[in-house]
Amino acid sequence: MTARTGDGPDAPKRIAILGATGSVGTSTLDLVLRDPDAFDVVALTAHRDVARLAKAVRQTRARFAAIADPALYRDLKAALDGFPVEVAAGPEAVEEAGARDAQWVMAAIVGAAGLKPTLRAVARGALVAFANKECLVCAGDIVMAEARRAGATLLPVDSEHNAIFQVFEEAERERIEKLILTASGGPFRDWTMEAMRLVTPSQAVAHPNWSMGAKISVDSATMMNKGLELIEAAYLFAMAEERIEILVHPQSVIHSMVAYADGSVLAQLGSPDMRTPIAHALAWPRRMAAPSPRLDLAAIGRLTFEAPDEGRFPALALARACLKAGAAHTTLLNAANEEAVAAFLAGRIGFLDIVSVSQAVLDAGTPGPASSLEDVMAIDTEGRLRAQVRIDRLAAA
Ligand code: NAD
Ligand code: MG
Repeated sequence: MTARTGDGPDAPKRIAILGATGSVGTSTLDLVLRDPDAFDVVALTAHRDVARLAKAVRQTRARFAAIADPALYRDLKAALDGFPVEVAAGPEAVEEAGARDAQWVMAAIVGAAGLKPTLRAVARGALVAFANKECLVCAGDIVMAEARRAGATLLPVDSEHNAIFQVFEEAERERIEKLILTASGGPFRDWTMEAMRLVTPSQAVAHPNWSMGAKISVDSATMMNKGLELIEAAYLFAMAEERIEILVHPQSVIHSMVAYADGSVLAQLGSPDMRTPIAHALAWPRRMAAPSPRLDLAAIGRLTFEAPDEGRFPALALARACLKAGAAHTTLLNAANEEAVAAFLAGRIGFLDIVSVSQAVLDAGTPGPASSLEDVMAIDTEGRLRAQVRIDRLAAA
């Protein structure tokens, strides 16, 4: 007989969601709330959205809630008054959420801000569902080395990487010829440079197929998202840059593919709904039901493919060059891009300036190697400072 306590097969899975109020966080909560007895929510975090975090805590009966902005401690405490939950605030509290005793952790904070909390979960040897691609672009070597040391399992959630993970035969790694990352091409896939010059933030965040947070939506529009995903794939699957191809597929039905030496190409398909890759990671190594709309291929009728246009989307070549050049370059790229996207969303620079700011930051050279977490944080800071100098100049012009 097995007791229904501890880590037995019938025990609820202890989970934490870092970035519980965002697009991926909310989709994860949606799955968890469909089968509440199957999960014991150890910790939830957010940046500033007190109301949404408090609601999620009440719905899931989470035991620990961390808000990153320390000024919001009282608000969160008041919003959860009388509810049996431990409340904390500040970046260290968010890190603490990663350290709590969850077996499965969703890393869904956006940007390098997610690095330290995610590393805390990795260092415990947890199952870490990876949505936060910036933390791999910023510190891929460090995250992967820590995962090996601690015996952590990284479960890719980004839809392309989850697709590859589902069809990647590790035992046949030597006979994998290439990974094919599909890209929708974003909302400006067939726009001229002249038209893209005038793009507004609201146009850039309106993705044709996916509903996502603002930062990744802008990255999809510049195609930097695919550049970041190229780097993410290189780290997650230990694949050389030249064996990762990018293919534009505007319908977003095939989420990515693996090509083998015998000529077979394996793909994963689905509707563009993050609940499918999140469910795959949440139930791994098993499967669970997810409510994503079912694919109706007859209704879709045609799937099309085209090569990416690196002339109109220079982010692709820039990201590839950074991956080839090494970790310090990808750290700088991530930092510059985060600052440039924020400046674009704030109306300070134009759409085409986003990638030119990152290019200029990289052209100034890397400040030194990215061998330790301290190195990475220093390069990240330097990249942000350099980007700000260029952004201020552009905003003043
Ligand atoms: P989002 O902006 O909707 O949510 C981000 C979450 O991070 C929120 O909970 C926010 O409170 C938290 N956060 C933001 N800044 C923080 C800070 N400084 N400290 C602590 N917490 C902070 O973003 P999203 O679209 O859910 O994306 C999250 C991550 O997943 C990104 O790295 C993105 O690239 C990746 N991703 C998202 C999708 C998608 O469909 N949305 C798909 C693939 C990958
Ligand atoms: Mg993706």
